[in-house]
Amino acid sequence: MASITLEGLRKTYAGNVQAVKGIDLAIEDGEFVVLVGPSGCGKSTLLRMVAGLETITDGTLKIGDRVVNKLEPAERDIAMVFQNYALYPHMTVYNNLAYGLKNRGFKKPEIEERVRKAAKMLEIEEYLERKPRKLSGGQRQRVAMGRALVREPAAFLFDEPLSNLDAKLRVQMRVEIKQLQRRLKTTSLYVTHDQLEAMTLGDRLVVLSAGKIEQVGTPMEIYSRP
Ligand code: ADP
Ligand code: ADP
Repeated sequence: MASITLEGLRKTYAGNVQAVKGIDLAIEDGEFVVLVGPSGCGKSTLLRMVAGLETITDGTLKIGDRVVNKLEPAERDIAMVFQNYALYPHMTVYNNLAYGLKNRGFKKPEIEERVRKAAKMLEIEEYLERKPRKLSGGQRQRVAMGRALVREPAAFLFDEPLSNLDAKLRVQMRVEIKQLQRRLKTTSLYVTHDQLEAMTLGDRLVVLSAGKIEQVGTPMEIYSRP
């Protein structure tokens, strides 16, 4: 795993929309940071800049010691988990997990080993031959996480991964993500507007407001303030 460092990170969209206005943040190796704040405050823009899905207007982004501002998403050694699962409907679970590795030129034995390992960790081994439509919402979400996991990335990015699930599953997946985090010590940046998710998962919370950091602290520090 690796640290993620943001120095003076800015994003100005066409029309002079200043979505992110100079963010300084150091996410330590193995730390789970949750980004919260009202709709439109810039959470998604910030996450997408780290992922490489959005260009950086100004500032420096480092993963470990490496400046990655100009690198393609695939070269950043980070994996993103989306809320809409982003699974391939015509592929089995196995192939959904294997696909990215195949594209990256991994050999079959290595792919099989990584897929088995991730499937075991997420307890989806029994579903490897199924298509996504034969899975429950929670199982699909695990496959989505599995696709990130098999890459064994330096860091994980989560874009409201649980917001499409019903309340019961959300609680269950929250616990699972927490357990994974304990086991794997993943460096993570997690966007949500669910306060319970933020409190349960975050080592630290970053509260964003109109493109700027308003507060940074542990869940206790943030939510116990008057
Ligand atoms: P959040 O994820 O917190 O809801 P966003 O990062 O989506 O916030 O949006 C931050 C601001 O940037 C908003 O004012 C939004 O309207 C604007 N914005 C987001 N994406 C674009 C875009 N592609 N072009 C122009 N403005 C955008
Ligand atoms: P495609 O039709 O897209 O080639 P396949 O189902 O044939 O997809 O699988 C692609 C590769 O992955 C094949 O080499 C296959 O042997 C392997 N594979 C698929 N499912 C499993 C599995 N459960 N365990 C091990 N290897 C598998």
